[in-house]
Amino acid sequence: MSKVTFYGAASGIVTGSCHLLDTNDVRILVDCGLFQGSKKVVRLNWQGFGFDPSTIDAVFLTHAHLDHCGRLPLLVKHGFNGPIFATDATRDLTKIILYDAFKLHKEAVEEGRLGPGVTSLQYTEDDIKKVLSLFKVVKYGEFYNFKNGVRFRLRDAGHILGSASYEIWIKTEEGRERKIVFSGDLGQPGQRIIRDPDYIREADYVVVESTYGGRLHPDKATTVLEFLEILKDLNKNRGVAIIPVFAVERAQEILYELNLLVERGILDKELSFYLDSPMASEVTRVFERYSKYYDEDALLLLEKGDQPFRFPGLRFVKSVRESKMLKDAKDAVIMAGSGMITGGRIGHHIINHAYKPTAHIVFVGYQVPGSVGRLILDGRKKVKIYGRVVQINAKVHYLQGFSSHADQYDLMYWLRNFGRSVRQIFLVHGENDQREALAHKIYLEMQHNAYMPLLGETVYLR
Ligand SMILES: [Zn+2]
Ligand SMILES: [Zn+2]
Repeated sequence: MSKVTFYGAASGIVTGSCHLLDTNDVRILVDCGLFQGSKKVVRLNWQGFGFDPSTIDAVFLTHAHLDHCGRLPLLVKHGFNGPIFATDATRDLTKIILYDAFKLHKEAVEEGRLGPGVTSLQYTEDDIKKVLSLFKVVKYGEFYNFKNGVRFRLRDAGHILGSASYEIWIKTEEGRERKIVFSGDLGQPGQRIIRDPDYIREADYVVVESTYGGRLHPDKATTVLEFLEILKDLNKNRGVAIIPVFAVERAQEILYELNLLVERGILDKELSFYLDSPMASEVTRVFERYSKYYDEDALLLLEKGDQPFRFPGLRFVKSVRESKMLKDAKDAVIMAGSGMITGGRIGHHIINHAYKPTAHIVFVGYQVPGSVGRLILDGRKKVKIYGRVVQINAKVHYLQGFSSHADQYDLMYWLRNFGRSVRQIFLVHGENDQREALAHKIYLEMQHNAYMPLLGETVYLR
């Protein structure tokens, strides 16, 4: 009998997405992501897959985030040799993300941070090269025959550039066709650069993410107005705004909003803008290459001859020397990684500016418990960065409307499209309180008992 085993993003763990669809004839891995977060969770990366990678026929990759693609080099190292299906944009972003992750992996090994028993590199750059050579680019909306009667189609998941949901048709032993949908990570509708998630009408089984299954995002307009207030304050007090950014999608969203604010002449005086992240700059170039995936808003800008990620006053900072010169910046917005101040150049900017009452620290994304970003967001006045105690006198903001994940309302809207066709919904990729909240909502609105699988649990598709 066909079955799915949840090897990641289950049991209330958000990261490590990795689901094995096994039809007896064909074994398909949907995503092969890295476990991230607490030490206990991170250790799962190095404890084996729970299956033999050489028996997998193909990987269906939903998108380039590390928690979905990060263990592909390990998969290849341990014998996987099949195709990796994904969109072209996902392939290009995955390349950037895997090389960046390898750098962090090397550092973690050198500093002995991978836990007891893990003292050497778990994979090499050659494994990454092998991963990249296995990519088979597929298009949204087209049907592909894989093998032994398995067909699939990618739909836009509206989460980050190139992100996809998978519709997969399989044959049961009795010869009946069954359809299973893997949502991947779903975005919120109404984003400006990428398109809204596609709505899928029918499925027998649905595996859906639940990151914000119990939450509602504040609306985008409020967020943009808050952002504008901060910039106006810079105009008035000659301060600096420090924005910890995630290199993929969020950095581009911020550049996009700034482009609109600057070029419409809404600011009182000129400001300087620095994107101090070589990785985010590289990702921005990928975004510029794939305008074919833009939503109307971004396409309209392009038609008018405006480049959505470039505007007067913006500099893409390359060298560390140039980054250090931002120590005395005034009337400036500095964007740098990492997004949760867990490393990277952002730490130095916090050290250099956060003690000033005219400075602003602007969070634009989720801050995981334990990160420096979370401590600052929770109001801590002294934090330790790179061994130094930093006094936080800056004003702290949290602009929540930039989320690239669907909230409860968006998830329900997406799920409602399946109507009565669905035999079973499975909730993955969410902390337990979020999964439970979504399951409850699904029960109230669809009279359906959604299932919350455990890590390593197998479910049968009848
Ligand atoms: Zn994602
Ligand atoms: Zn994810």
